[in-house]
Amino acid sequence: MEKQFHVTCARCGHRVPYVAPVTVCEQCGYDWLDADYDLEPIAETWRAELASRSCNMWRYWELLPLRESDHIVSMGEGNTPLLRAENLGMMLGHRHLYFKDERQGPTSSFKDRQASLAISVLKETGVTEAVVASTGNVAISYSAYCARAGIKLWAFLTSTVPADKMREVALYGTEVVKVTSTYDRTKIVAAKFASHKGLFIDRGVRNIAAKESMKTVAFEIAEQLGRVMGDDGTGLGWRAPDWYVQSVSGGLGPVGVWKGFRELYRMGFIDKMPKLAIIQAAGCAPMVNSFKAGLGEAENVTEPQTRITTVATGSPGAVYPFLRNIVLEHGGAMETVTDEEAFRAMHVMAKMDGLSMEPAAAMACAGVFKLLGQQVIKPHEVVVVNVSGHTFPVEKHLLGDGWAHTVGTAEAVALAARSPAPREGLMTALNRLDGRVKRVVIIEDDPDAARLLRRILQARGQYQIFEANNGRAGLDLIHHEHPDLILLDLMMPELDGFTLLEIVKKEETLQNVPVIVVTAKDLTPDERRRLNGQVESLLQKGSFMEEDLLEDILGALE
Ligand SMILES: *Cc1c(COP(=O)(O)O)cnc(C)c1O
Ligand SMILES: [Zn+2]
Repeated sequence: MEKQFHVTCARCGHRVPYVAPVTVCEQCGYDWLDADYDLEPIAETWRAELASRSCNMWRYWELLPLRESDHIVSMGEGNTPLLRAENLGMMLGHRHLYFKDERQGPTSSFKDRQASLAISVLKETGVTEAVVASTGNVAISYSAYCARAGIKLWAFLTSTVPADKMREVALYGTEVVKVTSTYDRTKIVAAKFASHKGLFIDRGVRNIAAKESMKTVAFEIAEQLGRVMGDDGTGLGWRAPDWYVQSVSGGLGPVGVWKGFRELYRMGFIDKMPKLAIIQAAGCAPMVNSFKAGLGEAENVTEPQTRITTVATGSPGAVYPFLRNIVLEHGGAMETVTDEEAFRAMHVMAKMDGLSMEPAAAMACAGVFKLLGQQVIKPHEVVVVNVSGHTFPVEKHLLGDGWAHTVGTAEAVALAARSPAPREGLMTALNRLDGRVKRVVIIEDDPDAARLLRRILQARGQYQIFEANNGRAGLDLIHHEHPDLILLDLMMPELDGFTLLEIVKKEETLQNVPVIVVTAKDLTPDERRRLNGQVESLLQKGSFMEEDLLEDILGALE
């Protein structure tokens, strides 16, 4: 049975039954059209059937703009895991931080949803040759799905796309056209080429299928969150997060994700809309900058200044006012991060929670760190970050020289002995290195916090680390080990940090050892006075980041 749905113009509201893809309103000529479904019967079907359906994005079939299921081109896209931030959540003092792991798609980015639906629609429409302009990931994903569907693809890429990504595109048999200009210029060149050759061109956010595909991110998040946290009282087992965070280029993702949540809301599956956090690269942030300047229309960026080519869209067009209105009406945030902040977030994400991702995805993480720091995102709020893609073409400059160990078998044994992984190995190696080693005592009764502090130290260098889980044992340890540095928690059984500090500061051999206090407690003015002049620095758990802590440690050891 063919699916019935409508297409509605966002400007004049003209509504027609969907027959085949259309790009402009036949009444007013506007090019922002939306698929529009009869939601009530679909909600009923979903309540009855969804739980027993197969787990990929096509389980949401009724709300996807394809008429016949025979035309589906699929490689198991969607159904990516929703991962809780274990260590990072602990470190940031944020319990409800989740990552939607879109790296786990068939070509390793959330563009796979878009490709699966858009290429299915091309197949249904009988298109056999198509053109796409891309900053990399759309081209890779469309190439894979076009190969499966037997569609010839022309990919127009800006010359700043990493060569590894370009080669990946070419591997699928796509014709790669490298344009030595910005992404916005590349789009124009591609459109001219397509019109000259009479070929179909994918119009990104103005392609209904592309936009609709992104809804499945919202559907999955709500289903998965409901599973881990329970629903909001709807009784249906779904749940909306308080925040959806994404790094943004053209903004197709947030536009589609928003529409997905809105449909869920209208169907009664969720009882609120999330706030959107739009994160852009500081060197190409037309939306964020225009938003902060209070502009109703975007001021375009003609010369993007970012190494993160994936997100270098300088002219967001109608997407900007659309997202701006959402943020103004529903709350939310638009924020920039620098390339360096994104690269640092890449390291933090990989080291802390085992997630390696490409810089474009790490931008969203850097954005979360920033918004948490600014308290725009509140500690109790449920946050879902789209980890939008994977770093298979690790850019060389990120790692510098010598990031790989090239060794023979004999050297490998020595290397293994130096490896910080097993505790004994680390100690042996540190003892061997002796004079250069910095000795650190950690006194902390919360095992998770202690583990984190240790991880941070280990990730950064050759520290000799001693740990005690209460004040009394800590004092013994200090006497015994004569550390170069003490990391001290305040609230501990037996002997608290305040008292310990007083003892240490009275002893001649110890009074010059720097102490960094790490505490979960909000200090009273009186307590602050007690610490004043006695500690090297004071770190509030939940607000310190790896880099802050490390800077303090390095500073203290100078
Ligand atoms: C496309 C892409 C983005 C930007 O998404 P938009 O919604 O198109 O702005 C971010 N990260 C990765 C990895 C991408 O491939
Ligand atoms: Zn219209």
